[in-house]
Amino acid sequence: MTRPFNFSAGPANLPEEVLQQAAAEMLDWHGSGMSVMEMSHRGKEFISIYEHAEADFRELMAIPKHFKILFMQGGGLAENAIVPLNISRGGLADFVVTGSWSDKSQKEARKYCDVQIAATNESSAHTSLPPPATWQLRRGASYVHVCTNETIHGVEFQELPDLKALGCDAPLVIDFSSHVASRPVDWSKVGLAFGGAQKNLGPAGVTLVVVREDLLGHALPICPSAFNYKTVADSDSMYNTPPTYAIYIAGLTFQWLKRQREGEATGIAAMEKHNLAKAKLLYEAIDHSGLYVNNVSKDCRSRMNVPFLLRDASRNEDFLAGAKARGLLQLKGHKSVGGMRASIYNAMPLAGVEALVSYLQEFEQKYA
Ligand SMILES: *Cc1c(COP(=O)(O)O)cnc(C)c1O
Repeated sequence: MTRPFNFSAGPANLPEEVLQQAAAEMLDWHGSGMSVMEMSHRGKEFISIYEHAEADFRELMAIPKHFKILFMQGGGLAENAIVPLNISRGGLADFVVTGSWSDKSQKEARKYCDVQIAATNESSAHTSLPPPATWQLRRGASYVHVCTNETIHGVEFQELPDLKALGCDAPLVIDFSSHVASRPVDWSKVGLAFGGAQKNLGPAGVTLVVVREDLLGHALPICPSAFNYKTVADSDSMYNTPPTYAIYIAGLTFQWLKRQREGEATGIAAMEKHNLAKAKLLYEAIDHSGLYVNNVSKDCRSRMNVPFLLRDASRNEDFLAGAKARGLLQLKGHKSVGGMRASIYNAMPLAGVEALVSYLQEFEQKYA
């Protein structure tokens, strides 16, 4: 059976190999007689699943030793509160607002610290990125927050800002929920990274936090214990019951990522090459058409989330119905932007993007 191609923004498609392995192991994980869902999180079986997942993620993402990897709950939105609770010390936090997600982040952080908008791309309707040299960063800020891939507006930082080069000592916090593991991360520029798993790594329910060790241990007294990074780090993410099944699936996805090959490249480097090829194909098809349009500046177009409009919006329903009939699912755009959005995360094969591109062309010709 071939499955349809699923362009959901999240929860999103998972590699078929991962789903098949999970199905095969559903009733009896490795001869234990248990489903992973039924295991104690403190038993040796689950501990081995957890340790493999953590080690594989560290290796894949080349995360240095002085960073902790935490498997938390609450998703990206909870991190909008958990980050200031842990690292703001009730002081100043500067936010770069580049779309809906970073805007949500700065609003939530206001409950816990003194927030300033250092830069925004609102005047371009979130279709460009403000150059780091123009950011208004405050001396003594406890952190600077950036959403490195705006899932709704389809805007992505192609390079992380170098705060030190801007004369800023504050740690950079990145929300990489929707492009984690799609490209390498330069950890020398990062203090903390967080992301929910449901876009690129696994099912909803587990949130990955990668945090530099010196940022641990400064939580505000009101910080819930289960959300205190130091408590979570000291207990290997087992202060309370972690989302065990979601961690297991994320672990299978990490193994799948490690198996990726493209020429000499392996792992994330290979994945990045696949992602670049997919994005190029789709953006070129949009740019060369008379019916579809993507308004994001070419230098910051997301490789993961491709929003596009039909110049004649009265055809939207027709477009979506035809797509669904061809096995191209969940292409409807976010309500705040309208039109369509194709999310082409790691697990979307090139064949899925090729199928979408032929449908785009076919649909345009039909109405020409
Ligand atoms: C999806 C998303 C979130 C929100 O994640 P939840 O798990 O729903 O809390 C936050 N930030 C970005 C960039 C996202 O794409």
